Amino acid sequence: MVIGQIHGNEPAGVRVVDALMAPGSPLDEVVSTGAPVEAAARTRVAVWLIRSLNPDGARRGRRVNARGVDLNRNFPAAWARQGEGTTQWSGPTASSEPEVIGVMASLAKIRPHAVLVMHQDYAVVDTSHPRSRRAGRVLAAWLGLPARPVGCAGPCHGTLTQWADQALGAIALTIELPAVVRRADVLRDAAAIARLSSWLGTGQGR
Ligand SMILES: [Zn+2]
Repeated sequence: MVIGQIHGNEPAGVRVVDALMAPGSPLDEVVSTGAPVEAAARTRVAVWLIRSLNPDGARRGRRVNARGVDLNRNFPAAWARQGEGTTQWSGPTASSEPEVIGVMASLAKIRPHAVLVMHQDYAVVDTSHPRSRRAGRVLAAWLGLPARPVGCAGPCHGTLTQWADQALGAIALTIELPAVVRRADVLRDAAAIARLSSWLGTGQGR
């Protein structure tokens, strides 16, 4: 599962997802189509793509959703009420927001082996979750980024990758793209994600 955006003012990952969806996508080489083509038989990977979890925030160029909640503090994993009145407002209760409820239902149904979530602009792949470290280091090398545990200001509360790690047991990676992402970078990043999908599909990273 590849999620292009959760913070509305961090648009680069949406462009990467668009490149993954476009004709001639690097995913064409790795995704199982159900047809007996050689590539599908080799990897048997299904890749789910979500352009944005926060379309309201994206429309306004804001980190938070239309109700002023930071969706990446609203998931029910180590959730804590915090940041009211700031752009890191957790919301009044865990999973109070429709965007969070919706994506949790999808993820619980799909049970992805890995969840990748794109942010900006720290230019790093976060390897905070131990089960995700190997895949995170591999992906970071292909993205041309460093890999290290990033965390939050203090302990993290209510993030999507925390929930995917704890509740789904998934590889859960936060990808922090740089501030400036050129077209060539988008294509390289899409190719790196396709390559990781193939790598995971061959059973590596477990
Ligand atoms: Zn972010």
